[in-house]
Parts: sequence; C-alpha cells; structure tokens
Amino acid sequence: VKLKLNNKIQLVNWILTRKCNLECDYCGIVRNSNETIYPNINYYNSFQMNYNYVIESLEQFKQYLPDCFHIFYGGEPFMFPHLDKVIQYCNDNNIWYTIITNNSKKIQPKIIKVLDKVGLFRGLTASIDPIIYDPIFHPSKKDRREKSLAGLENLISISDRVDDMMAEITIDKSNLEYIYQLVEKLTKHKIWSSITFVDIKKSRYYDFSNVTDINELVDDTQALRSVCAKMIDDGLWIHMGEELLDRTLNILPSTFNCELENYMHNLTIDADGSIRLCLRIKGKYTSDYYVKDFFNDFENIHNAMIVDKKEYCKLCNWTCPIMSKLAVEEDMTKDILHI
Ligand code: SF4
Ligand code: SF4
Repeated sequence: VKLKLNNKIQLVNWILTRKCNLECDYCGIVRNSNETIYPNINYYNSFQMNYNYVIESLEQFKQYLPDCFHIFYGGEPFMFPHLDKVIQYCNDNNIWYTIITNNSKKIQPKIIKVLDKVGLFRGLTASIDPIIYDPIFHPSKKDRREKSLAGLENLISISDRVDDMMAEITIDKSNLEYIYQLVEKLTKHKIWSSITFVDIKKSRYYDFSNVTDINELVDDTQALRSVCAKMIDDGLWIHMGEELLDRTLNILPSTFNCELENYMHNLTIDADGSIRLCLRIKGKYTSDYYVKDFFNDFENIHNAMIVDKKEYCKLCNWTCPIMSKLAVEEDMTKDILHI
C-alpha cells in the first residue's frame, strides 16, 4: 500500500446511485449523456455498487485515511438499497460523513425510516433555495418555492436527531438578493449554510449543469461582497466561514483550478464503484479504476487523473474541491466537521 502521496485526501464523494425520484433539468447524473465515451444510464443502474462493497471500501479508508470526510450523494442516496447499513457502519466506526438528499416530499418518509433505524445522522445536507423569500409570486417558480419550503420544514423537524445539519444554497442571479434572510433563518435553527454558485456546462463532459450562457453566472460584485461580509460580521453560520467564502468569491464566475494533478485532495466514486476525475467530469482513463483497488493502485489512478484533467477540464466553481484544498493548505480539516 502506497500512502506517501494520498494522505492529503480530505473529501470523498460517493455517487451511491444514479437513480433519483426527480429529474432536474441541469442534472446529467440521472440521464443519458450525449457523450459516447460514457456508458448509458442503464449500465449504472444494472452494475450499481451494493452496500457490502461500499462498507468494505469504507473499511479501507478507515484503515489508511481515518480523517477523511465522506459525502454520500446520488442521484438520491435514500434510494440506495440498505443505506441504513452504510450509515450504521459509519456511526459505529467514527467515520465522518454527510448525506446529501433532495429532501423532497417523496423522499422524506425514507429519510425518517433510515433515521429511525440508525438513531442519528452525523451529517445531513439538503438544498434550500433563497427564492422562498421573494415577495413576488412567480408562477414559473412555484415548484422551486414549494420544494424548498417543504424541505426547510422537514430539516427543522428532524434537526434534533442530526449532529451536523447543513443547507446547500445555490446562488443564481434570481435569488441573490434573498441569501441573507435565508441564512439568518437557518442559523436560528442551528443549520449551517454552504454557499455555492450556479456553474456552466463548459463542454459536453460536464455533468452537473445545463447552463451554457456565461451571462447567467453570478459575478464577483461589490454588492455580493457586502452581503457576504455582513453575514460573516453578524456571526451567521456559514460553512467554513470567511476563508471558504472568500475563495469561492475569488473564482467567480467559474475559474477555479483544483490542481488535482499536483496532489489528490478530493476523490469522487461513481455508482458502479469506478473512480471519476471529479464530480463535474467523469473522465476517460480514471474510470478504468475502482475504489476497491484505490490503495493499491494509487499512483496509476493519479496518473490517469492527470491525463483526464488535461484533456477534459476547463475549470469550474465547484465548492467541494475548494474546501478540500483549503483544508490542506490552511490546515482546516476540523472546520469541515464544525468541531
Ligand atoms: S440527483 Fe439531484 S440534481 Fe440530479 S435529478 Fe436528483 S435531485 Fe436533481
Ligand atoms: S472541473 Fe476541473 S477544476 Fe473543477 S473539480 Fe473537475 S477537474 Fe477540478
């Protein structure tokens, strides 16, 4: 086992499943890609990792990288069979994690069912849209508003059974002016806010956006800086505080370079257990490798990432690798955990 280089990994993103009860228009994870180097969605649904595979892989992380923070995504992770067993394993083995759910009405009973089985979640994250504070009712935004209102209510109702609860707030031009009110409300309920910005689909290899017009992205303006400074000054609960917010604003609209080629601080695993270049981009060569082999094949995997990054990456504004890079460079690992 080669540990020399990989001991900097801070965050591991698991796409546990590509199945989801929703079909958000920007999401390339749950639908077929036009890209022919990628398998189609039926492949992922037929060869999805099972809970034993995930637990055995988590065992290896626990042995070699015990301080890693694991993020369970989907698709919708509460549609992953036996998620309770994975969470129970993490709870019993002091593994840090959060589960990122769409928290929609259909999923809420599943969340409660898993919660009842495992007793508590160490972390739970759901997106809430600041649009709920828009005083004008826009019929076209009705679903967006109702989903967030119901989601917020559900988060608050289970907050005493979640150690670390977080709302993911994705800012776009239409909801920008309502961030403060939402973050203030979340803080009152002891819910952290993770601030992210809408990103652009820079090529057909980018899976998490359908925005193709750069004008739709949020720019680093004085007005935005002022709201952010006020949230920090007023002590609102912003995930990783001023340092992360500052780095996130600095790369707007979408100029972040994760530098995974220099050192691997962030890892993403696809639903079939293969390694991705990152959450945004699957890549071509990296996905020849599987998470079970990660600790034996580390150097080959890193080399494949270097090739894929050069070929497919056109930068991004994804907060997760900003966070893991910050954790390494500023020794802020404990801030990811809010301890
Ligand atoms: S995985 Fe997330 S972004 Fe994709 S369709 Fe489901 S809820 Fe929407
Ligand atoms: S899109 Fe590029 S910069 Fe962004 S995380 Fe992926 S590889 Fe890194």
